[in-house]
Amino acid sequence: MITTDVLIIGAGAAGLMCAAQAGYRGKSVVVVDMGKKPARKVLISGGGRCNFTNENTSPENYLCQNPHFAKSALSRYSAQDFIDLVDRHGLKYHHKSLGQLFCDDSAQDLVDILMTECEWAGVQVNLRSEVLSVTKIDDGYSVTTNETSYQCKSLVVASGGLTMPKLGASPIGYKIAEQFDLKVLETIAALVPFTLHEHDKERFDGLSGISLLTEVTSENGTSFKENILFTHRGLSGPAILQISSFWRAGQAVTINLLPEHNLSETLSQWQSEQGQKSVKNLLATLLPKRFVEVLVKDGVIADKPIKQLNHPEITALSDYLHAWQIKPNGTEGYRTAEVTLGGVDTDELSSKTFESKKQQGLFFIGEVIDVTGWLGGYNFQFCWASGYACGQAV
Ligand code: FAD
Repeated sequence: MITTDVLIIGAGAAGLMCAAQAGYRGKSVVVVDMGKKPARKVLISGGGRCNFTNENTSPENYLCQNPHFAKSALSRYSAQDFIDLVDRHGLKYHHKSLGQLFCDDSAQDLVDILMTECEWAGVQVNLRSEVLSVTKIDDGYSVTTNETSYQCKSLVVASGGLTMPKLGASPIGYKIAEQFDLKVLETIAALVPFTLHEHDKERFDGLSGISLLTEVTSENGTSFKENILFTHRGLSGPAILQISSFWRAGQAVTINLLPEHNLSETLSQWQSEQGQKSVKNLLATLLPKRFVEVLVKDGVIADKPIKQLNHPEITALSDYLHAWQIKPNGTEGYRTAEVTLGGVDTDELSSKTFESKKQQGLFFIGEVIDVTGWLGGYNFQFCWASGYACGQAV
């Protein structure tokens, strides 16, 4: 049996950040993780280069039943604080669009930084250690793993969400919360590609790989102007991943296929300047040709010279392409999702320390709680911020 001040379940972004902070405060800290390697999601994130934060992070970039919950932690540990940390370690990184920061070489560089911080702070990281059960004892908690058992004063649950089961995702965090009578909100796969109904899959067969700039809007009015990507299963790309967090089964999404144009004006201009040319050939200068061909086959785009379009036809075509409606069949689910929406209800936790209001010494941080960021480095920033706040409090 091993005794420690702080036991952290999960050597992911949130757990490792929390561990280093607590260690620097002189606490004895052990992190247990069932994986063979630490921070496996950091390693695969951002296509192997990890989009580790977003310079424009603000509480508005998060979904949570209590929109105020993340404010305190995000303000006490900002994107700039994390940038300062990686700068001290000499990480090479670059800025992409929309405030996103990525490692130049490999996400492994970031994992090395987290592990170095843990080493400097005297943290013990025990891998291949699966937590099997947790019990409350007089002065803290007893935790049994497949290897040994631990006694700790503070128990931090940083076990993540349900995405990517093959990378060790498990529901243990939710189970521990429920064991101690904390409410867990329904979990849903988010930042995830859409699958399409059979008839749409047939219509778009052959479009796989086509990407175009759009503005996608959900039924609740949230919209993102980014690319969509046709895949052999359905629709993906950043705009689709973003909107998936706001989409619910049975709803439609509206896609402005030409967000940079006023199509009815363009069509009228074409009529006066290039009247003999066909509608489809002209539209193929704005949209991918294969996609235009699908719309011709559907009868949406008339196969005739543009001068033959009458005013109602111009309006109808413009409305259609500016507000293309698509009703997804579902999503690809946890297998490919980047995050889990829902989780431990933030009403159960202190927004300053992340400690359970009901259960002294029990903390939840990172993705296991009901705080879900947009695509773009926001999820890691919440891991750093919640890990930091909790590490100061345990
Ligand atoms: P996790 O990283 O999931 O860590 C939890 C740990 O707990 C795991 O290591 C797991 O092995 C361990 N664990 C679980 N159960 C047990 C148990 N019973 N016993 C012991 N250990 C256990 N976010 C961004 O901000 N930027 C990106 O570029 C980005 N890209 C992503 C790409 C992909 C493909 C995916 C899937 C996600 C991406 N995300 C990204 C989201 C981000 O990875 C997560 O939000 C973040 O990793 C959550 O960190 P965490 O520490 O809360 O949990």
